[in-house]
Amino acid sequence: MDRGFLFGDGIYEVFPVYNNFIFGLDSHLNRLQKGLDTINIQNPHSKDEWVKLINKIILINKDSDNQAIYLQISRGCDEDRKHTHAKLIPTVYIQSSNIRPSSKDHLLNGRAALCRDDIRWSKCNTKATSLLANTMYAQEAKENGAEETILCRNGVITEGSSSNVFIVKNNYIYTHPKGTLILPGITREFIIECAKQCEIQLHEESFSEEELFNADEVWVSSSTREVIPITSINGKQIKDGLVGPVWSLIYDQYQILKTSSDNLL
Ligand code: PMP
Repeated sequence: MDRGFLFGDGIYEVFPVYNNFIFGLDSHLNRLQKGLDTINIQNPHSKDEWVKLINKIILINKDSDNQAIYLQISRGCDEDRKHTHAKLIPTVYIQSSNIRPSSKDHLLNGRAALCRDDIRWSKCNTKATSLLANTMYAQEAKENGAEETILCRNGVITEGSSSNVFIVKNNYIYTHPKGTLILPGITREFIIECAKQCEIQLHEESFSEEELFNADEVWVSSSTREVIPITSINGKQIKDGLVGPVWSLIYDQYQILKTSSDNLL
């Protein structure tokens, strides 16, 4: 009778952990709180309690170098399956899995993506566990040997099925602005920081499907995949089909940031 199971009525977070250090801890906990507020679930733990719980799981799995901590809070169990609910006790689920971000050498081959219409609801800034559209897009990408499905709403590129999207044109970086149409990715924020450190101009401005296909570079980003260069979309090459130089700079800067201790976003 858990509403997480019955309705996908819950919020989740994914915390990347490098050498037992949680990358972007505060940002992830803040986004978790926002999601819970949006769907009116009371946060069952304080920040300190979450940190203790997450660190406990990290320690159990300490033999794995890099971990992704998946944390889900669902509204809880009701007496019956009905759309409305009483006040319930939230269910907390936490798991750790190994992450092995691809090496730069590997990524230099580039990856393929699909581009499809974004048919999701318009609260995409909420990290809800109900991810049916997203999982369908991911499955279609997988079946086509692609890294990701990039989504397009009314001619504008929003984000990927589980990532944010960036393009480079004439050495400027563009990514969709925050709002209800995208998840405010924590990796996206780190990339904005990396661009500043590399003194490359980044604009939080939307771009069209046409601009995506005509970009010099396309990347997707997420906590577990970091920043991945996309060199073809729907079977069409992006520029010359090679991984671009701006990606390489940002990738290197991201590797520095993720292992530095003063990266608290
Ligand atoms: N957009 C969507 C739809 C996602 O599912 C994700 C990954 N959870 C992201 C963007 C990237 O977010 P983050 O960088 O915080 O992992």
